[in-house]
Amino acid sequence: MELSGLTIMVVEDHDFQRRMTLRLLKDLGAGTLLEAANGREALSMLTDRGEPVDIILCDLDMPEMDGVEFISHLAINQLAQAVTVVSAMEVSILNTVETMARAYGLQVLGAIAKPLNLQELTNCLGRFQPRGNDHEAYVTRTEFNVEDLKRGLKEREFIAFFQPKVSFETGEVHGVEALVRWFRPGHGVISPFYFIHQMELEGLVTPLTEVLLTQTCGYLKAWARRGFLMTASVNISMHCLEDVSIADRLHDLVKESDCEPKQIILEVTETEVMIDVAKVLNVLARLRLKGFGLSIDDFGTGYSSLQQLSNVPFTELKIDQSFVKDSPTQPRHRTIIETSLDLARKLKLKTVAEGVETRAEWDLLKSLGCQQAQGYFIARPMPGHQMPEWIQMWQAPEEV
Ligand code: C2E
Ligand code: MG
Ligand code: MG
Repeated sequence: MELSGLTIMVVEDHDFQRRMTLRLLKDLGAGTLLEAANGREALSMLTDRGEPVDIILCDLDMPEMDGVEFISHLAINQLAQAVTVVSAMEVSILNTVETMARAYGLQVLGAIAKPLNLQELTNCLGRFQPRGNDHEAYVTRTEFNVEDLKRGLKEREFIAFFQPKVSFETGEVHGVEALVRWFRPGHGVISPFYFIHQMELEGLVTPLTEVLLTQTCGYLKAWARRGFLMTASVNISMHCLEDVSIADRLHDLVKESDCEPKQIILEVTETEVMIDVAKVLNVLARLRLKGFGLSIDDFGTGYSSLQQLSNVPFTELKIDQSFVKDSPTQPRHRTIIETSLDLARKLKLKTVAEGVETRAEWDLLKSLGCQQAQGYFIARPMPGHQMPEWIQMWQAPEEV
């Protein structure tokens, strides 16, 4: 690809690094070069220009507007044809961003770790393909088949978002829950609601769990480096637990990612499909022995199997959002919550209320002695790189 005909913009907040990059591009024979010190400045230049640039090289970690927000603006407003992410961040984070950009229909030429070198830059720019008029139109359908799911796994389209869990008592952030999102190119972002069940039926939910666990460990390390030590919860469906080798595999995976099983809580959700209870009990006990926390998710909504699991060494109980919702005005919901909290205390389980959406729900659950809160009232699920900033900004509701 001849670079002389292309317009390339460099968005980077460090003056020195920006100049270095411009210099390298010039040496490679790039045509028109534009530069901006942050996302906001770049967006206003691009909007004024009225015509998309060919390629944008952008840093992820920028003040004012971070790279991810910037990339989503680029895509939505079609301000560029392609992006290359240049960043000193963890590879797993770079991959996440890459997948997001692709889902928005932007060409992603690659993610280059800093410091930039000429060879990698050349390789990346070489992947640029000028777009004709026939570029993919957006499709809003969310139909898919098993091949799409398999390809999605292979192409790393499944991305963990994270929602904080905070203490009712102190407001402190104790952990996060990883929630999968499918960034499907040309289809936008698809909620797990639409694909988990099918993945379970097709035997794809174990590979998905492994993907999520790996991404989660990557972020736990990245957050710890910035001084935020947390636990993370990962959802695991009963199907995964029928495979007796899963305990060892998850343990090895966490260790290979330089994390410890005690940093991970596995949230077990019941399924309608029949499971082999004896096998599942065996696997859960072994996971606990290896140090994983075990949480009963959506407590109160399940079928019958969890009753048979009463001798599982669970460490946490999550009250389902359907009971939390309207609990201040629904005596029945409140009773179920009280009973669940009572049971949890007797079994010495930590308690988490999920789906806390209002101040009234927060106050009620707190007064009933629930330990941790999760829900839109605190924060919506967010990309992992936003978590440190969110924690710094977060203020627990004041007592009245
Ligand atoms: P869950 O584990 O019970 O997760 C809580 C769900 O409630 C999440 O939906 C979350 O985004 C949503 N939520 C959180 N706070 C609020 C709130 O205040 N109000 C309301 N209305 N909703 C709230 P999401 O992300 O769509 O996930 C749905 C379910 O899909 C999860 O329920 C979980 O069972 C399953 N799931 C998600 N990720 C995975 C995964 O990686 N593996 C497996 N096996 N299942 C997953
Ligand atoms: Mg969960
Ligand atoms: Mg739940």
